[in-house]
Amino acid sequence: MSAGRRSLPIRCAPDPGEALDSWLEFIAARLTCPFTDVLGALGLPNRETAMSALVLPAWTIRLTRDELASITEVTGVAAGVLAAMTLQPFDGHAVDILPRHRRVNRRVLWGRAGSRFCPLCLADTGGRWPVTWRLSWSFACTRHHVLLVDRCPACHRVPRLRSHPRRETPRPGRCSSAAPDGGPRPSRCHHPLTGVPVTAIAADGVLAEAQRLIDTALTAPGRPARWPLYGPDGAPLNVVLRDTKTLGALVLNHATPDDLRPLAPPDVLERLERYRADPLPASSPRAPDARHGDLHSYAAPGDAAATAVAVTAAFRILRAANIRSAARAAQWLTDRVAASGKPLYPGNVVAPGVAISPALEAALRCSRETMLMPVARLRHRTDVDSTRPPADHNARARLLPAGLWPEWTLRLTPRHASGRPAAQHADELLAVACLLAGNTTPIRAAVRLTGTTVSSHNVSTFLATLTRHPNGADVLRAVILLADHLDTHGAPIDYTRRRALFTTRPQFMDAQAWLELQRRLRSNPSPNPVHAERWLFHTLTGSPAHLAHPGIAPASPAQRQHYQRFRWRILPAEADLLRHTARRLLDEHGIDEPVQWTPQLPGHALHGLQLPGPHPHSISPERLHQAVPGSDFSIAQLARTLETTTAHVVHLLSEHPLDWSPPRFRRTQHTATRAAQWRQWYERDHLSLQAIADLEETTLATIRLALLKNGTQLRPAGSRPGRPRRK
Ligand SMILES: [Zn+2]
Ligand SMILES: [Zn+2]
Repeated sequence: MSAGRRSLPIRCAPDPGEALDSWLEFIAARLTCPFTDVLGALGLPNRETAMSALVLPAWTIRLTRDELASITEVTGVAAGVLAAMTLQPFDGHAVDILPRHRRVNRRVLWGRAGSRFCPLCLADTGGRWPVTWRLSWSFACTRHHVLLVDRCPACHRVPRLRSHPRRETPRPGRCSSAAPDGGPRPSRCHHPLTGVPVTAIAADGVLAEAQRLIDTALTAPGRPARWPLYGPDGAPLNVVLRDTKTLGALVLNHATPDDLRPLAPPDVLERLERYRADPLPASSPRAPDARHGDLHSYAAPGDAAATAVAVTAAFRILRAANIRSAARAAQWLTDRVAASGKPLYPGNVVAPGVAISPALEAALRCSRETMLMPVARLRHRTDVDSTRPPADHNARARLLPAGLWPEWTLRLTPRHASGRPAAQHADELLAVACLLAGNTTPIRAAVRLTGTTVSSHNVSTFLATLTRHPNGADVLRAVILLADHLDTHGAPIDYTRRRALFTTRPQFMDAQAWLELQRRLRSNPSPNPVHAERWLFHTLTGSPAHLAHPGIAPASPAQRQHYQRFRWRILPAEADLLRHTARRLLDEHGIDEPVQWTPQLPGHALHGLQLPGPHPHSISPERLHQAVPGSDFSIAQLARTLETTTAHVVHLLSEHPLDWSPPRFRRTQHTATRAAQWRQWYERDHLSLQAIADLEETTLATIRLALLKNGTQLRPAGSRPGRPRRK
């Protein structure tokens, strides 16, 4: 700007918070000169295209560096003060300014043109207009407890849509819009805006409270709003206001008068309903497509009463203490939206393309939880009030066995009153569910990745069963927590590798070794090692036995039942042999992992959850073993004795095998490990059975039986002279 610009003959300071155009008009009024003279003195363009287009000049939105320097030079007002008199401080926070044109973006943050006003404030100040009245977020005066006025009652125009006429001397407090009768050079309306009738609101009511919250936020627009819903760090103001706009639009589009009655007094609601009946009068600027569908989703409400109620209703949800209570506060609204026939599914609770905060999205989704597809509940983790959008979590498949760990299957499987599981293959279905938690992957892919053979339909049906079950929500919660635990802590076993290595394998152990052990341990040894093969496959892969190589997999329900029985009737020595075999198989493949593993959640994680199955550790192995009556017992009887389910007892016995064999087969473990030594003493060193029994501090019968089982040819009594005659 050129140097030596003269300062203005009178200086008057801007009011705190005053808009730049209001101040300049006030100066011109003081000087009793046409507005153009002040513009000229300040070096502001007085014939820019914006002026001829009859919109507010760009400098009311944001000042350029040159404009700032020039106004400061002439008026002595600091640049920082001048910038605060435009919309610049609110840019990106409460309004979005299009930088090239220095115009308000109307599609974002309820951007608008023109200004609302409080007639009582105008009367108090002699016609000074605060810059915040130009934001859609200003709808009430918290000093005078009235709604702001939207239009001049005489000409029905929105004030300050256009620049003050250049050749006229401003008259503060009066309407400067063109008079309604128009013409090419219309005269001014000049209606006194200070005396316009107002709608009063309660000073301590919710509408005033909502405006106070906004006013406070606008004093420091760059500071995050620390509302509990948004977590400990709060959220930037623009995020809160965007959420407010989204909810407010849903309120204006879908709420019934009854819904809104608790929020505002009748005269305010009446104004709102009048506005909703005819929201966009012909003279008003309209947003593209505004007539179609979600009217209020795009354009800022042109009425302060509508804005007040919409914002207040939105704040009821956004000011909730957490996602759950925000969901409860939003439920009436999402019910209305759903009833309107709008598609309501996660990610699209609001109009497509509308971005909302993860916290609000989670709350809206939670509010529809019971109506959501069960798989969507898992993907969006609604049961743990998650704000995390679903993502690709297929890597979790490596950490998951094809059938969920027996301990977790026991706890999480919903059952009928009879005790029967509510679904076949519940362990596999639960594993798929665990992979789907927070995951975007299709059900079909999840099924393939966990290596099961259940169908997508089975999964959907199971999840639907779960959501209907009284403890279903808690089961889903536990499944999600389990999935999160795996994602965070990993697993010491790569189940994908185990499946790849062992699923096609037809044999895991030497049948002869198994048979020999059987002969030593059991009165009626089973010649078929297939159950042992199943046990090894099952233990190594975590996959249920029916997924094994066809040579091993139980084919019929009867075979499956026999295998189940084998698992809990297994003797400690058998289990030892099988575990050693499994260990050896892993070692042969150079796999340095534990044979088996089960994830354990921290104690407090499941606190308060009601799960359908018992906690496996609620009965100690000692108590279990004490409760077994003898060699022959029924599992149902044992369950009754221990006051738990048969499934629980079956699980416990499989995990903690019990030596329930008849007394003559007891001490079998010791016998099994010593038998080879005894045979050597007997055959090579020709010790008598009694001598061996004495050496081992056991009975002669034990030694005799062990050697017979071992296939040793016993000598006739007294065949060796010099030895005791007894065998
Ligand atoms: Zn006021
Ligand atoms: Zn007017």
